[in-house]
Amino acid sequence: MKKYDIIYIGSGHAAWHGALILKLMGKKIAIVDRDLIGGTCTNYGCDAKILLDAPFELKEALERYQGKGLKTSAEIDWTELMAYKKDIIGAFPPVMENLFKMLKFDVIHGEAKFVDNHTLDVDGEQIYGKKIVICTGQTYVVPDIPGKEYFSGSREFLSMDEIPDRVTCVGAGIISMEIATICLSLGKEVTIVEQFGNALNAYPQKYVAKVIEKMEDMGAKFIFNATIEELVKNADGSLTLKGKDGLEVTSDWVLCAAGRRANVDNLNLEAAGVEYSAKGVKVNDHLQTTCKNIYASGDVVDKTIPKLTPTAEFESNYLAMELGLPKAPAIKYPKVPNVVFTIPRIGQVGISVAEAEANPKKYRIAEVPFGAAMSWTNKNDVDASLTFIYTKPTNRLVGFACMGDDAGIYTDILTLIMNNHIGPVRLLLGNIWAFPTPTYGLYLMVAGMYASFAMELPGLDKIVNLLPLPEDMKKMATQPMGETIAMMFPH
Ligand SMILES: Cc1cc2nc3c(=O)[nH]c(=O)nc-3n(C[C@H](O)[C@H](O)[C@H](O)COP(=O)(O)OP(=O)(O)OC[C@H]3O[C@@H](n4cnc5c(N)ncnc54)[C@H](O)[C@@H]3O)c2cc1C
Repeated sequence: MKKYDIIYIGSGHAAWHGALILKLMGKKIAIVDRDLIGGTCTNYGCDAKILLDAPFELKEALERYQGKGLKTSAEIDWTELMAYKKDIIGAFPPVMENLFKMLKFDVIHGEAKFVDNHTLDVDGEQIYGKKIVICTGQTYVVPDIPGKEYFSGSREFLSMDEIPDRVTCVGAGIISMEIATICLSLGKEVTIVEQFGNALNAYPQKYVAKVIEKMEDMGAKFIFNATIEELVKNADGSLTLKGKDGLEVTSDWVLCAAGRRANVDNLNLEAAGVEYSAKGVKVNDHLQTTCKNIYASGDVVDKTIPKLTPTAEFESNYLAMELGLPKAPAIKYPKVPNVVFTIPRIGQVGISVAEAEANPKKYRIAEVPFGAAMSWTNKNDVDASLTFIYTKPTNRLVGFACMGDDAGIYTDILTLIMNNHIGPVRLLLGNIWAFPTPTYGLYLMVAGMYASFAMELPGLDKIVNLLPLPEDMKKMATQPMGETIAMMFPH
């Protein structure tokens, strides 16, 4: 039986980042996967999605210049785009496998099952690991209704050479809304069916409402508070989704994106004494399972922080420390940024808008109509908006949300500022930003917001009131900068 210091079950981001570090520390490593090397993000998730999404973002940006100097808009050829996606993304698994082999990992193809807490059975062959890391990710959940076999998942969508004319998306979460956006941009008839009363419920609902408005303008039909009961295949090959209160939607393709569950079922975790539930594998603050020599990382972990690629990578890197060093501290997550790639995009990090709104004594919220105020550096993205959340009364920046094309970039920069506690002095005197760029504009807003708080001196309003100024000017001189910009650029 082959013996290893560490065996990873799964070859996604939760596995290989830390494996690289442990290899440099001299450990003998095996990576087992039953599917393509690289896992969900690389082959069936983020990477494939963002490659396919990019032309739609560009198309949208071009639309904004119609009548402002641009004469023709773009036309997207999905089949050609898909061929390009297959070329680029299809190359990843062999490239990654070669890299792992160059680093002298053993890459084992097959399905792993625990025999005991040190032994795995991989398609009939046994291997031994001093330590084993479970990184098996998640799979989408299919509702248990008649006709469930006719549902498709995001994985199929990201490989489809042609998209049918009528598409139904079950669920109004991130994956569903992103796929629906692409289909709408291609001129497809799209219906989104959601069991609850709102979409993207973890994101600021003011921004979500804008996204929905835009999707509806493009022809989307949203059905909220829906209970689905049956998916019927019709004689002409179309599918009819039926449910309570007369729900009936006929289309050519039905996406199921109504939740994901941890891949724990086929691992025979009982044989190793590892506790788990549908939410995932239970771990302590060292990512150690209920069995001492077995750890878990990534989407398969039962955790409250978002199940995303960067959190999987963070945990993998943490585990390299935990498994490679004599004594590692407990895992401590910094603020986790996340973005939904609808058009427009929505990003957020730290204290959420909903939490700040629910605690007005603790937090102040400043919303800036950034796009309207700085459209010339923002490629005319006039709807772009930033929301800053500060503590009261100390004015510490603790949360951020935004909407617009560059939401991902803005969210990352604000994460850097917040996680490194970069206050107004370091922001203004410790950095020089390239100009004119959208990120300079972002910096200006953050710095300006701090400056406006500094101006909230006791008695300033009394002095300003003595001056012979119009009322509007007096208000602008004494209120936080976000409100001033909103007054200057009503939208
Ligand atoms: C459509 C889609 C879009 C997404 N978009 C984003 C995004 O924009 N940004 C973001 O941050 N995140 C996104 N995600 C989430 C992101 O893909 C995951 O958080 C990330 O891939 C988790 O990595 P992981 O290594 O934990 O799991 P995975 O990447 O899922 O890897 C698990 C691996 O384990 C293997 N495996 C499972 N069971 C066994 C077994 N018994 N034996 C052997 N191998 C096994 C699987 O084959 C798989 O390769 C998206 C996900 C999807 C589906």
